[in-house]
Amino acid sequence: MEFTYYNPKSMQALVDTLQALQNYVILAGGTDLLVKMKEKLLRPMPQAVVDINGIEALREIREEGNSIMIGALVSHNELTKSALINKKAVVLAEAAELVGSPQIRNRGTVGGNICNASPAADTVPALLALGARVKVSYQDGFLEMPLAEVFKGPGRTCLAPGQFISCIKVNSLQADEGAAFLKFGKRKALAIAMINCAVWLKLDGDVISDVRIAFGSVAPTPIRLYELEKWLQGKPATSAVFAEAGLEAAQLIKPIDDIRCKASYRTRLARVIVYRSLVAAAERAQMRCSCE
Ligand SMILES: Cc1cc2nc3c(=O)[nH]c(=O)nc-3n(C[C@H](O)[C@H](O)[C@H](O)COP(=O)(O)OP(=O)(O)OC[C@H]3O[C@@H](n4cnc5c(N)ncnc54)[C@H](O)[C@@H]3O)c2cc1C
Repeated sequence: MEFTYYNPKSMQALVDTLQALQNYVILAGGTDLLVKMKEKLLRPMPQAVVDINGIEALREIREEGNSIMIGALVSHNELTKSALINKKAVVLAEAAELVGSPQIRNRGTVGGNICNASPAADTVPALLALGARVKVSYQDGFLEMPLAEVFKGPGRTCLAPGQFISCIKVNSLQADEGAAFLKFGKRKALAIAMINCAVWLKLDGDVISDVRIAFGSVAPTPIRLYELEKWLQGKPATSAVFAEAGLEAAQLIKPIDDIRCKASYRTRLARVIVYRSLVAAAERAQMRCSCE
């Protein structure tokens, strides 16, 4: 396969490069892209590959008020090791730690995980639970949008030609908040999720005052269960409520059969994973309340 290779070293050079090209792909860690190129799965085949690894500004993790800004090129390994992420967005470190193998986590990036738009992407439910917004950069500047709006279907995003994700902004966890990520795969390691789930919740005493629940591998894109979130708001954070939430979740999702498992099994897993994620998130919120 023949293509022209570009290696811009700044955001402006990247914007200018993309603007001048018609049929290109962006190369981050390459763990998804290179497989697709090798297997000739891209239609049309790209005439240009734009490698963004030379742009240091895309590798930053920094705190800004009550938010954490994560550059699109931050790798899964960097997420798992970051002191800031472990302190204020630990659910994301947990999700990143369950991606692929050490080699994949070393190369694979959070921006690539989003833009590959797999329904089973592991960092995406964690980001959705943290209320993530993405910064989309392009020739005229940038726009910011909720992460959920990026996904248009399996392998499809809303990004127009010339646009790329430069940064992801998540809310940092506060004293009365907790979050958890869980994944069921066919093996304990190097397995794409049969189902994954992330929960963030905020407690007011023993009552759930706010909650976000996100799922992967149960729909054409990663999803939030808004109906269940509404149902949980104002309810006590008890085991009985969490068990009922699991039953509700199993009724709300419409998964499909695929090579990893049957829809009926996913529905049963949904019940368990929602219950366990809620229990873990609530325990953490209670611990944070008493520690801070
Ligand atoms: C063996 C193996 C195991 C895996 N296991 C898992 C797993 O357990 N969980 C999981 O979630 N994923 C898994 N993956 C998928 C993959 O590793 C992740 O999705 C990874 O995060 C992709 O990031 P990347 O930087 O390698 O993306 P790339 O392959 O470089 O890019 C992926 C896509 O996103 C586009 N892109 C990348 N960055 C940007 C950007 N900033 N703006 C716009 N477009 C962009 C590229 O053009 C391409 O279309 C696995 C892959 C392999 C090969």
